[in-house]
Amino acid sequence: MAVFEPTWLVKAIYNLTPAQLKRQGIAAVLTDLDNTLIAWNNPDGTQQLHDWLQEMKQAGITVMVVSNNNHDRISRALARLDLPFVARALKPFPVGINRAVRQLGLSKHAVVMVGDQLLTDIAAGNAANVRTVLVQPLVETDAWNTRINRFFEGFVLHRMKKNNQLNFTEELNDKH
Ligand SMILES: [Mg+2]
Repeated sequence: MAVFEPTWLVKAIYNLTPAQLKRQGIAAVLTDLDNTLIAWNNPDGTQQLHDWLQEMKQAGITVMVVSNNNHDRISRALARLDLPFVARALKPFPVGINRAVRQLGLSKHAVVMVGDQLLTDIAAGNAANVRTVLVQPLVETDAWNTRINRFFEGFVLHRMKKNNQLNFTEELNDKH
């Protein structure tokens, strides 16, 4: 189903490098929060995350969180990371992504939406007409409210697997 189809499948957000992003004309990474940027059970983030954010910063690539969570929950989660964010993004609707793009003053071609859920992150990215990256969730277990989505997502994932469309790569390839 095209609405849930990601542009790329990459193992983790940390696999994205400034060189690959720039080659695609991408100046800002919009990212989901839970299980994409940080594990829901490890809110401080790993050294790997801090290193990756540093790398993006040095390369002049903006990282902005686009999350369905409320403002307080996100500012608590990002207290040590100092990242801009859009709260209550209403994914799978394009509202939050459109708001982020406007705030950044970039064209849609210059941003990419990264997330671990087809039914929210990827659907929202597609609805907003930006390119998308599906990543594997950082931890296998989810917060309770995500499990319901996961159940429905299972059908879509199963179909992608059957069609051999579920191959996560180490980096952004040049197919698009
Ligand atoms: Mg998530």
